[in-house]
Amino acid sequence: MTENILLSHHVRGRAVPGVAAFTQHNPAAPVDLRIEGPEADAALVAEAVAAAREAISESEAGGIEARADALARIGRRLTGDVERLARLIARETGKTIGDSKGEVLRAARIFDFFAGETLRNVGERFASTRRGATVEVDFVPAGVVAAITPWNFPIAIPAWKIAPALAFGNAVVWKPSETSSATAAALMAIIAEGGLPVGSVNMLLGAGEAGTLLAHAADIDAITFTGSVATGERVRFAAAKRAVRTQLEMGGVNGLIVLADANLDIAVDCAINGAFLAAGQRCTATSRFIVDHSVSDRFLETLLSRVAALTIGDPCDPATAVGPLATPRQKKLISQQVASVEASGVKAVCGGSAVEMAHCFYPPTVFDNVPRTSELGHQEIFGPVAGMFRVDGFDDAIEVLNSNRFGLSAGICTSSLLHAEEFKRRARAGMQMINLPTAGVDYHAPFGGVAASSLGPREQGRAARSFYTNIKTSYQQPL
Ligand code: NAD
Repeated sequence: MTENILLSHHVRGRAVPGVAAFTQHNPAAPVDLRIEGPEADAALVAEAVAAAREAISESEAGGIEARADALARIGRRLTGDVERLARLIARETGKTIGDSKGEVLRAARIFDFFAGETLRNVGERFASTRRGATVEVDFVPAGVVAAITPWNFPIAIPAWKIAPALAFGNAVVWKPSETSSATAAALMAIIAEGGLPVGSVNMLLGAGEAGTLLAHAADIDAITFTGSVATGERVRFAAAKRAVRTQLEMGGVNGLIVLADANLDIAVDCAINGAFLAAGQRCTATSRFIVDHSVSDRFLETLLSRVAALTIGDPCDPATAVGPLATPRQKKLISQQVASVEASGVKAVCGGSAVEMAHCFYPPTVFDNVPRTSELGHQEIFGPVAGMFRVDGFDDAIEVLNSNRFGLSAGICTSSLLHAEEFKRRARAGMQMINLPTAGVDYHAPFGGVAASSLGPREQGRAARSFYTNIKTSYQQPL
């Protein structure tokens, strides 16, 4: 029997229902789950922003210890609820149950980390060049933060925006993806019970329309966005008009270099993990295998045998390695992108458009002998699809790696310390991985890309403070 979930917005501590405007089904089994939610309008956006504005002074009055306690409480609640939340993520987005559990626990740790950061928002005090005077530097709240999030990390990404925003004294108006709104509502409910001032976090549901209204809303001080490059550009233009600060984390076409001196077992592990786990739906996923000629045949042979052994199926089954894509729309888009690569004459050595799969499932697909000008190297395909570029030595590999406009994550498999060091220096990417998959990062380290992948200060870890605070510099001369 189908489970039906009808969602509401959450503004000023209350549920705000509305007419159903979007629908999401379990992408592995549509009859299992049907989720519906409303689309926020301009009046509700304005109310949410006003509620957030009022919450900021209450949060300041409540003090840092109350805030730290609330964040720690939310973290504990997430940990305690891991099974229920992970199952919801798996059924709503198709992420495997193991990955979903990992993501919930990661979100819990993020809240815990920022509970500590609340108490460590330390300023500076130093002597002025004017004799006897002092200079103080304080990090004060940026204000009302609009957070717009995607579906592929439906709890972790909201956590790594909401937790630092709250830690540094801001309030949030959050617009989660229409593809993961039930998970968002579950997180919202836990945050709402955390003991923060009413209105500290407001959640507006909806798709692009609600996102557009929020990005254009008057009286927001900052926008943190994660999603596609195309949407990120729209958000950037909206914010630039009113000089609102932005933090944009967008797509990537990430490359993994495999040198002649690589341990090939490790290289294939990295390739499988990076390209196919989470059905390739990670911004840091590997979509280009950049492999030295001398080992490329052996690499491909091992890779294909490992791909053939991947269990594709129900994301709620712990034995499943690869679940479905998140929506029929994503499946249609990826099918079109793969068909276009095939039509250009590049050959799929596994998967491809000839393989038909039920519902939102898509086969792991590998292209071989990809020309350097192929669209495969230049356009994000947000699914289990990767291409092998055969190269001639380290310099050639770096040239191919840096040949598109993106720069999120880059990897290399090598046993040479010299090449590892050179790679860190020459790879154009915000995150470098050596003998590790391009996907998979720590929550206490800065996260973000360069070039077309990202704009604005880094997320996560101690680096998060720079986006969520304003710096105040005070000069004082004793009388
Ligand atoms: P998307 O751009 O379609 O949507 C992201 C969010 O923006 C959603 O909440 C959506 O409703 C909203 N939105 C849509 N149109 C809008 C508009 N005109 N104005 C304001 N908001 C709008 O992205 P998606 O499909 O949800 O997520 C997948 C993309 O996210 C991929 O490109 C992936 O690489 C990227 N991503 C990047 C990172 C990163 O940190 N770099 C992490 C995860 C995902």
